[in-house]
Amino acid sequence: MDITPNILIDQFQRKHTYLRISLTEKCNLRCSYCMPAQGIPLSPKAHIMTANEIFEIAKLFVTHGVTKIRLTGGEPFVRKDFEAIIRQLATLNIEIAITTNGILLERYLPLLLELNITNITISIDSLNAEKNQQITRRNYFDTVWKAIESLKLHTTIVKLNIVLIKGTNDSEINDFVALTQQNNYKVRFIEFMPFDGNEWNTEKLVTEEVILKKVSAYFGSNTLIREKDKANDTSRNYSIKGHKGSFAIISSVTNPFCDSCNRIRLTADGKLKNCLFSANETSLLQDFRNGIDILPQIKLAISLKKKARGGMDTYEKLSDSNLHSNNRSMIAIGG
Ligand code: SAM
Ligand code: SF4
Repeated sequence: MDITPNILIDQFQRKHTYLRISLTEKCNLRCSYCMPAQGIPLSPKAHIMTANEIFEIAKLFVTHGVTKIRLTGGEPFVRKDFEAIIRQLATLNIEIAITTNGILLERYLPLLLELNITNITISIDSLNAEKNQQITRRNYFDTVWKAIESLKLHTTIVKLNIVLIKGTNDSEINDFVALTQQNNYKVRFIEFMPFDGNEWNTEKLVTEEVILKKVSAYFGSNTLIREKDKANDTSRNYSIKGHKGSFAIISSVTNPFCDSCNRIRLTADGKLKNCLFSANETSLLQDFRNGIDILPQIKLAISLKKKARGGMDTYEKLSDSNLHSNNRSMIAIGG
C-alpha cells in the first residue's frame, strides 16, 4: 500500500513524480523538427517565470511527491540566470537532470559537477557537420562534439538524443550505435513527433522495427541484446554484445508509453501541461503571483489527464493535423 500522502495521482492511478521544467522559449539553434523556420512568437519577459518563481513552484511539486526534475527548454543554458536557478533547485534534495543541445555545456560543466549534477542528455542529430547544420539551421557541430567529449571525462554515462527523420539521418543509425562500442554512451533514437509548424508526416517516421532491422543487419542479429527497461522508462533498451554503451528507442508515436507515464511539464511561462501531446494547459503563474494557492489547479489538471497521448489515442487522431497543430511547438513546451 502506498503511504505517501501527497502524491499527485490521476484517475488511471499514475503517480506523477517527474517534473520537466522548461526554463526558456529561446534557443541558440533552430532545429527543423522542433520549431518553424520563421521562429515562434516569444512570450513577453514579464510572463516568464523568474528564478525564484521556478524554485517556489518546483518546491511545491516536490512537497507533493515529485522526486525528479529535468530542466529543458528551449535551450536551458541560454537563461542568463541559469546558475541562480540550478543552485536553488539543487537544495531541494531530489534528482536533477538536464537536456541540452550542448553548445554552452562547457561553460556550465564545472558548476554542474560542483552540484553533483551528472544526468545530462545532449541532443545531436547527425555525426556529419553539414547535415547537422541542415537540421539545426546553425553551424555548431564541432562545439557540440567537444562538449560530448568533455562530458565523457566527467560522468559515467553520456546520453545522446537523436530525433530520427526518414531520408534525413536514418542512414546514420549504425554510426550512432557504433559509438557505443568504445564509449559508455546511451544513444537514444527518438521518433519524430508532430507539433505546430514542424512539417511532420507519417512518411518521415522511422519505427523501432526498422531501426532493429538495420542494426541487426550491420552488427549481426546474434549480437543484439534486449536490456531490461526501468520502471516508467519511456524507451526500450538494447545493446550490442561487447559494447561499453547501449542504445534505446523512444517510439512515442507508434508505440507510446502512456500506461506508466509519471511526467508532468511546466512551461517557461508557468503553464502546467499534463501531457506532452495535449494542447490543454493550466496557467499557474498569474495566480501564484497573486498569492492564490495553485495546488487545487495542479491536482485538477492531473486528474484530467487523458489515458493516452493527450486524447489522441489512435494513430488516425494523431495524424490529423487539425488536432496536433493546436499544440505549441516543442521549443515552447520543453521536450
Ligand atoms: N534544447 C535542448 C535540446 O535540444 O536538447 C532541450 C530542449 S529540446 C525541445 C528537448 C528534446 O526534444 C531534444 O532532445 C529534441 O531533440 C527533442 N525534440 C524536439 N522536437 C522534437 C520532435 N518533433 N519530435 C521528437 N523529439 C523532439
Ligand atoms: Fe533548440 Fe533543442 Fe529545439 Fe533544437 S531541439 S531548436 S536545440 S530547443
